[in-house]
Amino acid sequence: VPEGERAEWLARALGRAGVLPRVEAERAIREGRVEVDGRVERDPFAPVHARGEVRLDGRPCALGARTRVLMFHKPAGVVVHGSDPEGVGTVFERLRDVLPPELRGYEWYAVGRLDRDTTGLLLFTNEERLVAHATSPETHLPKRYVAGVEGLPSEAALHRLREGLVLDDGPTRPAEARLRAPGCVELVLTEGRHHQVKRMLAAVGHPVRELHREAVGQVSLNVQAGGWRELSESEVAEGL
Ligand code: URA
Repeated sequence: VPEGERAEWLARALGRAGVLPRVEAERAIREGRVEVDGRVERDPFAPVHARGEVRLDGRPCALGARTRVLMFHKPAGVVVHGSDPEGVGTVFERLRDVLPPELRGYEWYAVGRLDRDTTGLLLFTNEERLVAHATSPETHLPKRYVAGVEGLPSEAALHRLREGLVLDDGPTRPAEARLRAPGCVELVLTEGRHHQVKRMLAAVGHPVRELHREAVGQVSLNVQAGGWRELSESEVAEGL
């Protein structure tokens, strides 16, 4: 099926196109506020084609929105989860707070995760397929981290990080590892397993105290903590 001809669920299509975030779109659909090709559609899961004529409250919606990617500088203390049982705040709320109104209608998907205490580069996109591509174990997109660790890692410890070591869930791929300053390790990984940086450094005897992500693919963080910017189309095409 050619791109653009593919059917998508109605609520998801509205979220991707920046009309309304998906949950709000589902509600609007159930309330009978959405028409597809001239008929009210109350099923959020109804398939809709990019060329279908969709209206919200009578106003036409452009569903053929391009892929958009935002860089966000995640502060410490917020979670990359939709749910927040401890009430500490989610990155989705933080992002929503700083985005201009014209970008708030999008359903923003986080490209991968960072732990609650980890800071740094987190990408968001309206295109779920980009999330799948960027986080797939086959893509090997490099991710650059800087970790403040306990102790002073030796050359032998760095060597083990580079060669790959065996964690509970199997061996790690070769990585780049170097000392930036005493107790400060730069690590470039081409996979993204749960707590991977912390587990690798703990495995070589240097538990992580602080963790920051500087880059994903060719995209380097260059906004202040809590800040964001949209990537250009060429940054997306060449960087991810
Ligand atoms: N590795 C970790 O251990 N934590 C992160 O947040 C990211 C990578």
